[in-house]
Amino acid sequence: MKRKKIIIISISLVITIIFAIFGGFLGLILSRNAQLNTIDFSEITGSSKKVVLFIGDGMGVNHVKATSSYYEKQMFMTSLEYQGMVSTFSNSLFSPTDSAAAASSLATGRKFNNKEVSRHNGIDITTISEKAKNKGLGVGIVTTDNLYGATPASFSSHANNRGDTKQIVLAQAKSNIDLFLGAGKTTYEAYKNLFENNGYNYKNDLSLFENNFEKQIGVFNNIVAENGDNISPTLEMLTEYAITYLEANYPNGYFLMIEGAHIDKASHSNDIFKMMSYLNSFDESIKICHDKLQTQPNVTIMVTADHETGGLNYNNQTKDEINNSLYTRSGHSSKNVPYFIYQKTESTIKLNSVLKNKIDNTDIFKLSEALLNLK
Ligand SMILES: [Zn+2]
Repeated sequence: MKRKKIIIISISLVITIIFAIFGGFLGLILSRNAQLNTIDFSEITGSSKKVVLFIGDGMGVNHVKATSSYYEKQMFMTSLEYQGMVSTFSNSLFSPTDSAAAASSLATGRKFNNKEVSRHNGIDITTISEKAKNKGLGVGIVTTDNLYGATPASFSSHANNRGDTKQIVLAQAKSNIDLFLGAGKTTYEAYKNLFENNGYNYKNDLSLFENNFEKQIGVFNNIVAENGDNISPTLEMLTEYAITYLEANYPNGYFLMIEGAHIDKASHSNDIFKMMSYLNSFDESIKICHDKLQTQPNVTIMVTADHETGGLNYNNQTKDEINNSLYTRSGHSSKNVPYFIYQKTESTIKLNSVLKNKIDNTDIFKLSEALLNLK
C-alpha cells in the first residue's frame, strides 16, 4: 500500500516536471514569437538615400554607461534622437545568440541557428547588401575584426558555419560589394589574385587608396583603438575613408555597415579597460560619420549591438571604481541591447511614427530595407 502511494506520487511528480518544462519552453517560444513582426515599416518606404549601420559587437547598455563614466563624457551615440531596446535571441533555446546568427538576423530580417552565416538550413537568405547592390546602390563593409569574421561575413557571404573561412572569402570576392575594410591580412594574402581578378583594388595601406570608381579591399594586420596609422588604422580612420569613398562614387545612395568587434572580444576576456577604449573609438567613429553626413537631407545612422557580452554590471560606479570584476561571465548573455538612431529626411513621415521602444534584431533589417526602398 505504502509502496503504491510512493509510485503514484513519483509518477505525478514526473508528470508535473514534464509539464513544467514543456510549459516553460512553450512560454519562451510564445514570448519570442510575440516580439516578431510587430512593426509595419511600409510608411517610411524610401525616406532615406543613405543608411549607415553601426554594430557594437557585444555592446550592452552597461558597456556604454561604464565607458561614459570612465571617460567622464556623454557618449555621442546616446545623444541620437531615437532610442530603445532590441531583442537578440537566435533559434537556440538553450543558449544566447552568437555573432553569426545575430548578424545574419540584422542582415536579412530572419532568425538563424547559432553559427549560420545568412544561410538557414542550407538555404541562402538574401542580405541587405545584395538587395542594395541589385538596386544599384553602393555597399561598404567595415570592421575592426578579420573581414571573414561572423559579423562582416553575414553581410557579405553565405555559409553553413562561421568557421568556413575559405567559403566566406570566396563569396566575398564575388560579392560585388564596393568596399571592404578590416583585419585579416595574412589570411587574405592567399586570395589577393582572386580579388584582383574580380576587379578589386587590393591594398594593405590606407594611404594607397584612391576614391576612383573601383572596388576596394583593404586588409590590415590589426585595427587599433588609438594612435592609428595607415598600416594599423583606427576605426575612425576607416569610417572617414569609407564615407569619403561612398560619397564620391555613390552620391545617390548606399548602405554601409561598420562593426566595432573588440567590445565583444575584450568582454570575453573581461578586460574592461580594453573594452572601453574600443567602445570609445567606436563612438568617435559614429560622431565622424554623423559630422560628415549631417548636412545631407536623407540620411539614417543606426547604432545597435548583436548581443551583450560578459553580463556587465554597472551601478553608477565612478571612474576610479570601474574594474574587471564588474563582469559576471565570460560569454554572451541574452540581455536586450540598445539602439540609437539618427535620421534626417525630407519625408513628412518620421521614424517615431513607426518605431517602437522595444524592437527585435530582425526589425533592423526591415527598417534598412524600407528606408532604402529595397523591398
Ligand atoms: Zn562574442
